[in-house]
Amino acid sequence: MRRQARSACPGHRKPMVNVDTRKLLRSLAKLIEKPEIKALQVSLVQTLEQLVEAESISLFEIRTLKQVGSDQAEDFLVPVGIDDSFEEDDAPLILLREEPQFMECCRSQNLVIAPRSAADGAGAPLRFIHPIFGMKGVTGFLVIDAAEHIERDQEMAAIFLGFIRNYILLLNDNQRDHLTGLLNRKCFDDKVMKMILTLGSINKRDADKVCYCLAVLDIDHFKRVNDTYGHLMGDEVLLHFSQCMNETFREYDLLFRVGGEEFVVVLRNVDAERAQTVMERFRKVVETHYFPQVGQVTASIGVTFIGPHDLPGMVMDRADQALYFVKEHGRNQVAFYEQLVAQGKLLPKQVESDIELF
Ligand code: GH3
Ligand code: MG
Ligand code: MG
Repeated sequence: MRRQARSACPGHRKPMVNVDTRKLLRSLAKLIEKPEIKALQVSLVQTLEQLVEAESISLFEIRTLKQVGSDQAEDFLVPVGIDDSFEEDDAPLILLREEPQFMECCRSQNLVIAPRSAADGAGAPLRFIHPIFGMKGVTGFLVIDAAEHIERDQEMAAIFLGFIRNYILLLNDNQRDHLTGLLNRKCFDDKVMKMILTLGSINKRDADKVCYCLAVLDIDHFKRVNDTYGHLMGDEVLLHFSQCMNETFREYDLLFRVGGEEFVVVLRNVDAERAQTVMERFRKVVETHYFPQVGQVTASIGVTFIGPHDLPGMVMDRADQALYFVKEHGRNQVAFYEQLVAQGKLLPKQVESDIELF
């Protein structure tokens, strides 16, 4: 393995970080310990911190977001958090087009080595910006600030990134529904469990800052669509429906297809009023969307808030109860479980009152 690495860059004479093969293999094994993209990214930084000589190593994602009060979407650099409870909503956003070195890295799709000025406030005089490739070209950056250019270190970082890229593509494929490209049912259970754990771990002071609102979206009379237009047109409707979701919800929201014609969206850090507005807007988007051949399609929506003592099944159960209420009361509406209970239209589940006792 060592011989290969040497022959790959025969010219360099710089002193190497003493990396033994066993350590490298252990790092690789640790890297893929958790089949989860965020954990993998965190592991990548931690592994490289051990293997390369650097003052700091960080990851950034490119996110296309709409500016507040504007319909225009722009690309931003968003730091990938090491802390699991880290909420990207609060992260400082850096406008990509105002960062010439990152722009150059995007354009060239290659490592960019940039000198850092004292004004940057850091000791390391060099910044190495490695492109991270996703499905659609450069989707992020690995940034290494270091005192000197040790060729082998940057080469190692690039090799790790290539390895991670292939692994992430594989993970992504596992987590996504093949028809719509939305996150799948298996991923749903994992993500909701993580949200519940996050809610359980945040301290009281921050409790009102983090919340998750989960909505089940179910296409109305979908069986009729299949029966009238055929299964293939039914699939086309599912695809259009998922596109409506992608266009309506924010980048931060998590979008899932959890069953045949059942979808879920998880909104983060929204109060009931805002969630009501967002869900109502989506309901109208679907109602007014032209579905080829089929024409109009509507959806019923059941919503609930995730709590720190929940289990994924309990959350779904509440959202489903709200959904069934809508199905029984005319369809094509949005209903919140908590509101229905407060209004006496639904009986709260026994299990919840038990939990309150603890
Ligand atoms: P409701 O308004 O009460 O939700 O009625 P519905 O007809 O939408 O619901 P129902 O559960 O009776 O039927 C769902 C249908 O979805 C039945 C099934 O054949 C169809 N379906 C499930 N998965 C797929 C899929 O992947 N593609 C297509 N085309 N149809 C699917
Ligand atoms: Mg349905
Ligand atoms: Mg259904």
